Amino acid sequence: MPSSQPIVDGKVVSLHYTLTLDDGEVVDSSRGQEPMSYLHGSGAIVPGLERGLSGRAAGETVKVSVPPEDAYGEREDAAIQVVDRAAFPPDEILAPGQSFQAVDDEDNAVTGRITAVDGDAVTIDFNHPLAGETLHFEVEITGVRDASAEERHHGHVHGPGGHHHH
Ligand code: ZN
Repeated sequence: MPSSQPIVDGKVVSLHYTLTLDDGEVVDSSRGQEPMSYLHGSGAIVPGLERGLSGRAAGETVKVSVPPEDAYGEREDAAIQVVDRAAFPPDEILAPGQSFQAVDDEDNAVTGRITAVDGDAVTIDFNHPLAGETLHFEVEITGVRDASAEERHHGHVHGPGGHHHH
């Protein structure tokens, strides 16, 4: 059995996780798939979860509750915008609940969700779908290993469960 090394920056961590909200709704899980892998300290996962896993080791099961400020932030009214129907392709059928990709002022990809369509006024919510939520993670740490030099250089994991190479 390999000696268990604690999770510190620069380790590649493999884990199974289940993400539940306050109301008990399971919104995401790796169960039934390959474990997820990430490079610890790279900011690949929400800060509150990364902190909660620091110092833990393979074989441990960890429960971490992460408030919005350490996850996807609070919901902001300013992220809800009303745009003209003409901003969308004319043949696109717009309906509440629809999501689409857009680019913000700083060229970051953002996801907007249409929340209302009233004539030519389309209301779009650019808040992250999990903004304002406390995230309850149940994590089973399945592996901890050193990152390769290439992974450290790229700042992400290569291989199964990790980043698909570019
Ligand atoms: Zn890479």
